Amino acid sequence: MDLRTALKQGAKLLEDGGIASPRLTAEVLLLHATGKDRSYFLAHPESELTELSWIHYGRYLHQRLKRMPTQYITKKQEFWGREFRVEPGVLIPRPETEHLIETVLAECPAAKRIVDVGVGSGAIAVTLALELNTAVVATDISADALQIARSNVEAYKAAVSLIHCDLASAIADQSMELLVSNPPYVPELDRSGIEPEVKDWEPMQALFAGADGLAIYPRLFADARRILQPGGMFMAEIGIHQMEAVSIMLAAGWTGVHFVNDLAGIPRLAVATRS
Ligand code: GLN
Repeated sequence: MDLRTALKQGAKLLEDGGIASPRLTAEVLLLHATGKDRSYFLAHPESELTELSWIHYGRYLHQRLKRMPTQYITKKQEFWGREFRVEPGVLIPRPETEHLIETVLAECPAAKRIVDVGVGSGAIAVTLALELNTAVVATDISADALQIARSNVEAYKAAVSLIHCDLASAIADQSMELLVSNPPYVPELDRSGIEPEVKDWEPMQALFAGADGLAIYPRLFADARRILQPGGMFMAEIGIHQMEAVSIMLAAGWTGVHFVNDLAGIPRLAVATRS
C-alpha cells in the first residue's frame, strides 16, 4: 500500500463514518502513523507504508471512527505556538483560551506571582511561565491531569509547581498578583447537544459545572479574593451567555470588571481587579 492510496482509503472511511474534515484528518493520522512530515508525503506519494505503519494507521482510523478526538490519538495539541501532550485525562486546549494569554500579556505583563487554577494539560501555566519568564503555581483536583501537566512542565523546563487540590484551597499565600483559570463552565443541561468527541471523550470534571454551568465560579471568585493581593488581577474563561451572571457575581469586592470577546464575538474572558 502506498501513501497516496492509504490516504485516499482512510479519507473515504472517515467520510463514510460522518467524521468532519475526513481528508485532513486521514492525513494527520497517516503522518502520525508513519512518523513522516507533510513535505515527505508530497514528494513521495508512491512510497510504500511499512507493515507497522499500516497497522498503526488502521488503529488510529478505527479510534477516530469511534469519535476519539484526533488530538487524543496523536497525543498532542498546539497552544500559543508550542506543542502540548494531551490525553483523555485533560481537556484539549482550545484556540479561544489563547485570548487569556493575549490578555495577560496586554494587561499584566509584569506579573510575577501567578496561580493557574485547574491546570489540566498545563498549556496556560507553561505558556505564562515561559512568556513572562516567571514561576507559576498551578493546581488541579485531578491526579491524572497533574501527571500530564507534569510531563509538559518537564518537556519545557518551565518553572511551574503543581499542587493537587480543589481550586486554590491549598494555597496559603495571600500576596498573589494574578490568578488565571479555565474552569469547567458547560451547563449539564446542554449535555445532549454536545458533540460525541467532547461528551464521550473529554473529562467531564473539566467541562461541566452544574445545571447552568455557573456552579464553580462562586467558589473560584472567593478563592481568588482570598489569595490575591489588593490590586491583584483575576482572569477566567467563561461560557456563552454567562457574562451577565458573572458580572453580578463580581459586583462586590472587585473593580475594573470587563470582558474580552473571542473571535466569534462571544464574551469569553472575565477580567477583574481585587479591590
Ligand atoms: N470551551 C470548552 C468547550 O466548548 C469548554 C471548556 C470549559 O468548560 N472550560 O467544550
